[in-house]
Amino acid sequence: QAKAQGRACYEQFNQNMHEQMVGLLQLDNDLRRAIERQEFQLYYQPIVALQEGTIVGFEALIRWLHPQQGLVAPQTFIHLAEETGLILPIGEWMLFEACRQLCQWQQGLPQAKDLTMSVNLSGKQFSNPHLAKQIERALHQASLTPERLKLEITESVIMENTQLSKDTLSVLRDLGLQICIDDFGTGYSSLSYLHRFPINALKVDRSFIGVMDANDENSGLAITQTITTLAHRLGVDVVAEGIETAKQFDLVKTFRCKYGQGYFFSKPLPPQQAQSLLAEAPRW
Ligand code: C2E
Ligand code: MG
Ligand code: MG
Ligand code: MG
Repeated sequence: QAKAQGRACYEQFNQNMHEQMVGLLQLDNDLRRAIERQEFQLYYQPIVALQEGTIVGFEALIRWLHPQQGLVAPQTFIHLAEETGLILPIGEWMLFEACRQLCQWQQGLPQAKDLTMSVNLSGKQFSNPHLAKQIERALHQASLTPERLKLEITESVIMENTQLSKDTLSVLRDLGLQICIDDFGTGYSSLSYLHRFPINALKVDRSFIGVMDANDENSGLAITQTITTLAHRLGVDVVAEGIETAKQFDLVKTFRCKYGQGYFFSKPLPPQQAQSLLAEAPRW
């Protein structure tokens, strides 16, 4: 009987694996057509200057509206696209679209004059030898100066090949672009590595911000404060990610974090809503 049960389990396991595989293949197939079918959209989340409480930029975050499955989270398909290489055309599309959007806002709104646009780069994009040229074309097409664009790269991508990363980052910095390390604190890079890379800002991962105002747990507080202090001494700006409460907003302000982002200010918004928010010129 145990044997029969074992076999049943095994078959169930096989069945699940099979369904998962078919699901992934289907998703990959759909992903291939998503660009031409215009199923991608960029949402924009404001980045706030904490002392002034005003919007100084937006981070572009990709969304996929799948015709049957509805909204698919970027964590699901970015990973897959990274494995199959599809991230390159998708990343190129998003780069051009984000630049086009900033250009449009700059032409229509006085509030958008000094606005920056942050875009995320995956590992494959970052190691793509055509990246710098691609970025130059995107900027040129949108008549943007390079310092308007901020590139977000995770610390794990940077640490994968430190020499190559250093070279690539130098090229991008020489073009006048701004470089941010995303999800800082979650990878394994040591703080002592920081000064070797030409970077402009660190984005402290939201897992640290999220526990900052919990009564019983203060490690988030200590970590955020330590990262901020060190970053300042190295002349690097700090962006606090995932600010959800007024208390967290106050705390990061007292640490003199320069920038913040999170649901407390706004969730990522579709273009029209982001534009309306910008036009209202809110102050937090
Ligand atoms: P990320 O770059 O760290 O983006 C921040 C994520 O945190 C976003 O999730 C955003 O919606 C979410 N978030 C912002 N504020 C809060 C908050 O206060 N609370 C909470 N709980 N979450 C908050 P999203 O849009 O699902 O993106 C997830 C990740 O997917 C991004 O992390 C980024 O690594 C990747 N991604 C998104 N768009 C792109 C893209 O166009 N290209 C590439 N290569 N990666 C992208
Ligand atoms: Mg990011
Ligand atoms: Mg992040
Ligand atoms: Mg993240």
